[in-house]
Amino acid sequence: MVKKQQHKLQDVEYDLIVVGSGNGACGFLSRYLDSEPKEQILVIEEGQNFFFSSDIAHQYNWLKSFSEGKIFKLHNALTPENIPIISGRACTMGGGGSINYTMIHESSQWLADHIGQSPEYWDELKAGLNPRFERPDPADDLSPIAKSVLKAAENKGFRLVADAIANIPNQPDLDADLLHIFPTLFNEFGQRTHSGVSIVDWAYPTLTLKTRCRVEQLKFTEVDNQDCPLRCVAVHVKDLETNEAYDIPLKENGKLVLCAGAATPRLLMPYGDKLGKGSISQQVNDHILLPLGLYLPKKGIRTSPKDNYVPIFATSFWRPGSEGQKDKEQTPQGSETLITFDFFAGEFDRLLFLVSHLFLALLLPNWLKRFVIKWPWLFVVVKNVVRLLIQLVNFIIGIFWGIGNWLRREPWHDELELITAIIKFKPAVSGQYEDNHKRITLNFFAEVEETGFNQDKTVAQQMIKKHIDFLNDLGEKPHVWVRFLLRLLLRLPYEKDQVDAYVKTYSKKFLLTEQHLAGGCLYGAALDKGLSHPQNTGKVFGAANVHIADLSSVPLPRVSPQMTAYLVGFHVAHRLCGDKMKPWNRKARIFKSIFSSVC
Ligand SMILES: Cc1cc2nc3c(=O)[nH]c(=O)nc-3n(C[C@H](O)[C@H](O)[C@H](O)COP(=O)(O)OP(=O)(O)OC[C@H]3O[C@@H](n4cnc5c(N)ncnc54)[C@H](O)[C@@H]3O)c2cc1C
Repeated sequence: MVKKQQHKLQDVEYDLIVVGSGNGACGFLSRYLDSEPKEQILVIEEGQNFFFSSDIAHQYNWLKSFSEGKIFKLHNALTPENIPIISGRACTMGGGGSINYTMIHESSQWLADHIGQSPEYWDELKAGLNPRFERPDPADDLSPIAKSVLKAAENKGFRLVADAIANIPNQPDLDADLLHIFPTLFNEFGQRTHSGVSIVDWAYPTLTLKTRCRVEQLKFTEVDNQDCPLRCVAVHVKDLETNEAYDIPLKENGKLVLCAGAATPRLLMPYGDKLGKGSISQQVNDHILLPLGLYLPKKGIRTSPKDNYVPIFATSFWRPGSEGQKDKEQTPQGSETLITFDFFAGEFDRLLFLVSHLFLALLLPNWLKRFVIKWPWLFVVVKNVVRLLIQLVNFIIGIFWGIGNWLRREPWHDELELITAIIKFKPAVSGQYEDNHKRITLNFFAEVEETGFNQDKTVAQQMIKKHIDFLNDLGEKPHVWVRFLLRLLLRLPYEKDQVDAYVKTYSKKFLLTEQHLAGGCLYGAALDKGLSHPQNTGKVFGAANVHIADLSSVPLPRVSPQMTAYLVGFHVAHRLCGDKMKPWNRKARIFKSIFSSVC
């Protein structure tokens, strides 16, 4: 039960203020509270308390939450050529963790390279974090549609890997087409359990949570220290319930831990000349997401709401010249890129919630999207109008589908079910936060000026072509007229020779991200890796008492990032807590020894 706040926040001086309560914050608090601190801790969250948002996150699983205005907000993201990009963030207690679905860790080598420490350190940390989610073994409960995806992929050369700790998979550094199964976050009643909010003891006696409160500014004072000339003394907040604005002070030796995700670099940008060695706001990126063809599940295979996000990733590597000699001549340049396929299946009307929201990218013209991403109220209006229109289309399709079923002598009330996939990958060139109008520039489909080489376009084209037979084996292709309509409106490819045109149109008209914005204050560039002094881990260069514990501290992971965000928070707390009692470590060691003996 979350504690009711009885005093005025501005009347108390806090030892530790945590800004944001998302994945990074939950990872941080989960580990930090293990050390049983006596300090007064305040967590400030812009979004609603989970008591309200859990309602949204539960209904229609995560799909409905996409289409609710309050807990999902759009960034003002554009390419340098001003093409709008649909890219968003979660705004609720638990942050992205309250609406995320897929889970996979970056490889421990990747974490060591970008955050510091050894791969073994990261293996141990994963073993400490993962069991807290109590996720069941996904292999025990695979649905018929998940099995059919696995079979189709294995037939085309993908290989299932069993590299997981407490059932949460790791991306290994292997040069192969791989399959990973990830665990569901829903219990047997379809409720979302054991996500970020469940790994934190929100009733901890000295912890106060303030929701619907936005940190608008950090207050610094100059101190006589050449290395760290600024010390944060307070945060300036706006109470979104009362519209009251005030300062919340930090104790003299207090710490500020920023876990506000995409807002973290923004809060530091006004002090960018003194903090972070001038690199705050740089190296920002998100995964490009391209929707792929729609299929009908194979005969006899029914879907369930649990399949809305099929719990399987298929990963494949793109390498310059990896597609044969002809392509090698055409693509001698570029950097190795990991691509992931995610799969969605279910009743048409459930999947529609996706369309009404993220896939707005496919339905609206760029000129309108430019306004929609800038003005949140317009986003709410537009997506709800689209949602109503789509439900009307759904109603009409339902009638035709019912009549078709009746003519085919099948139960008329059987719902139309679909299976589809997306491909996602990290763009070749990163972007940055801009000062004006909170704009974020993402360099999607950037072209090398001298050679005209466009890595993102090449990756998308070559990888969709390479795997199109696998995709076409996910289910039955829809009727030729439906395909014609899909090609006319969206150019969705079903054949190799349709791929280039789709990618070209997508790169100009349909830009969409996987909602995975990362970077802006990277370890090593803006943040101390804490290698010589653990207490400095995640500390912003130039600041005496400000740490970052969210996804803005790392470059965009190659795979889905939420586990990296949890782990970053867990890591900062682990290093700050020093050698204080770590109950998880004992359990983790036992777990690890069982795990390695089983393997
Ligand atoms: C719709 C959606 C679906 C996603 N699905 C997946 C998935 O299935 N798998 C996956 O791996 N990743 C997924 N992600 C990405 C994942 O959620 C993020 O990478 C992750 O949440 C980043 O964690 P974070 O701690 O950096 O930030 P967040 O989790 O975004 O947390 C930041 C928190 O800070 C709060 N905040 C922001 N500004 C302020 C402020 N000024 N004052 C106070 N509070 C503030 C926000 O409300 C938020 O709660 C998804 C993201 C979205 C938006």
